[in-house]
Amino acid sequence: MVDVLIHGGEVSDGHGGPLVRADVGIDNGQIAFVGRSDGIWATSRIDATDQIVCPGFIDMHSHADLALLNDPASRPKVEQGVTTEIIGNCGWGPAPISPDHRIDWRRAAAPALGDPDVDWSWTSFGDYIDLLRAREPGVNVASLVPHGAVRHTVRGMDAGPMSAGELEQMCQLVDDAMSEGALGLSGGLVYPPGVYAETAEFVELARVVGRRGGLLTLHIRNYGRRLVDAVDEALSIARQAQVRLQISHMSIIGSRNDGVLPLAIERIEQAHAAGLPVAFDQQPYEGACSILSLLLPGWVTEGGIDATSGRLAEPESRARLAEEWMSPVPVDPWWENYVGHIGWNNILIVGTSELVPDDAKLVGLTIAEAADARGSSPAETTMDLWLAHGGAVTIVLRELFSRATVETIFKHPMCMVETDAVHIEGLPHPRLYGTYPRVLGEYVRERQLVTWGQAVAKMTGMPATEFGLQGRGFIEPGMAADVVVFDPAEVHDNTTYLTPHRRPTGINHVLVNGVVAGTAGAGRVLAGPARRTE
Ligand SMILES: [Zn+2]
Ligand SMILES: [Zn+2]
Repeated sequence: MVDVLIHGGEVSDGHGGPLVRADVGIDNGQIAFVGRSDGIWATSRIDATDQIVCPGFIDMHSHADLALLNDPASRPKVEQGVTTEIIGNCGWGPAPISPDHRIDWRRAAAPALGDPDVDWSWTSFGDYIDLLRAREPGVNVASLVPHGAVRHTVRGMDAGPMSAGELEQMCQLVDDAMSEGALGLSGGLVYPPGVYAETAEFVELARVVGRRGGLLTLHIRNYGRRLVDAVDEALSIARQAQVRLQISHMSIIGSRNDGVLPLAIERIEQAHAAGLPVAFDQQPYEGACSILSLLLPGWVTEGGIDATSGRLAEPESRARLAEEWMSPVPVDPWWENYVGHIGWNNILIVGTSELVPDDAKLVGLTIAEAADARGSSPAETTMDLWLAHGGAVTIVLRELFSRATVETIFKHPMCMVETDAVHIEGLPHPRLYGTYPRVLGEYVRERQLVTWGQAVAKMTGMPATEFGLQGRGFIEPGMAADVVVFDPAEVHDNTTYLTPHRRPTGINHVLVNGVVAGTAGAGRVLAGPARRTE
C-alpha cells in the first residue's frame, strides 16, 4: 500500500540515461519503489500512459527571494514543473541587512528582486530564512548568501577595497549565514556593490564558504569580449579559495564576440580536467533581462544611487555617457556596451517604479520607441528614466545572444538549466513562466539538441549534485518524492516578450515531497552543508 502510484509512464531518472518503462510508488513523501506495481494498492493513482515521469525541476538560479514571501505557492514556477528554487543569486538577496542600510538596499535590489509589499523586518540571513519558512512555501527553497547584501551591510555602496577589519566583518557574516543554512556564496561582479569588489575580496569570502562545504556561484565580470578574462578570474578565485564553482548564466554577448566563447569553455574544461569542481548554467533564451543600470559604465554608478543621480543630472557627464554609448571601444575595459551590441531597438522597457506612475505606459516599448513618444533621443530618455526612477527600471535585452551560441552552451555536458527569472510587475521575461517547457518542447522535441534523459538531468540530477541537495534530484527509492509528469508530444511554453504571463502546456502533474506542488507547506526550506552538520 502506497500513498500515490504513478503508473504506465516512461521514467527519466535524472542521471541522463534513456527512458525506462516503470511505475513509481510514493509513500510518506518519498519514492518507495520504481518498477512493476502488480498487486500494490494505492490511495491515489496517476495514469502516466504516454507520459514521461521525471524528478521535479530544480531552478538553481531563481530571484524569487521576495516573491516567495508574497506568493509562497510560487505559481509561475510550479506550473512549469519546478519543485525546488535556489535563491540569493547574482549577489542579490534580502539578507543579511543592516538596519541603517535597509531602505537603500531595498531600493537598489528592487529591479532584481521585485519590490512586493512585504515587511522588511529581518536583519540576519537566519531571520530571513525563518520568515520564509513561516510563510509555508509550496516548493522547496534553499538559499545562497548574496555577496552584494553582505558588502552593503558592511560598507554601503562605497567603491574600493575593504579594510582588513571590514573584510573580517564580511567573512563573519558569510560564516554566520553558512551556520544558518546557506548553500554557499553568490556574487554579481557587474552590479554595485559587487562590481567594486576586487578578486582578493572574493577569495577571502569564498574560503570561508569552502571550509564549510558550500559552493561559490558567480555572475562573472564580463560576458562579452573579455569573457575569457572573466572566466579566468572566477576559476582563480575558486582555485585559491578551494571551493566548488558554478559560473552563472554562461553566455556571450553580441554576435561579434561569438569567437570568444569556445576559448572560455576550453578554459573551464581544462580547469575541470585539472581537478577543479566547476560547472555552469544557462537560461535558454536569446534575450536577457536586467536592470537599466547595466547600461551604465562604472564611472557613472560608483557611489550608489545618489552619486549616480548626480552624474546623470550633470550636462558634461550626460554628454560623455551619450558619446560612450556610440563608441565602438568602451573606455572602461570591463564594461560591456550593450547599446553598441544590440541597439536601442532591442532594449525593451518591461518594468518601471511607482515613483512616476505615468511611466507605466512605457512598459512594452523599446527605448527607441519610448524616445519617439517623448520627442527625445534614446540616450536622453535612458538617462531621464534612470533619474526619474532612481534606477528602478527593468529591461529586456532582445537578441543579445545568437541562436548558435545558445545551442552550443545548452548542449555542453557541464551546462544546467536555470530560469534566472525576476519577478516584476509589468512584463517579466518569459522565462519566469516558460523555461522548462521551452527546453523540453523546443530544444528536445523540435530541435533534438539532446535526448529527453540528458535534458532532464540538466534540470534535476546535475543541479541537485552540484548544489549539494541531498536526497533530491533523482527518481530512486529513498529520494524525496519531487516528481513531474509531462507529455513529450505536447509540452511547450506559450509565452512571448510582450505576453509573458501564460501557462505552459503539457506539464500535467507536479508533486513536491509527495504532495501537489504549490500547496501551502508542501515545500521544505533546505539547509546547506554547515547547518546540516551542526
Ligand atoms: Zn546574473
Ligand atoms: Zn541572476
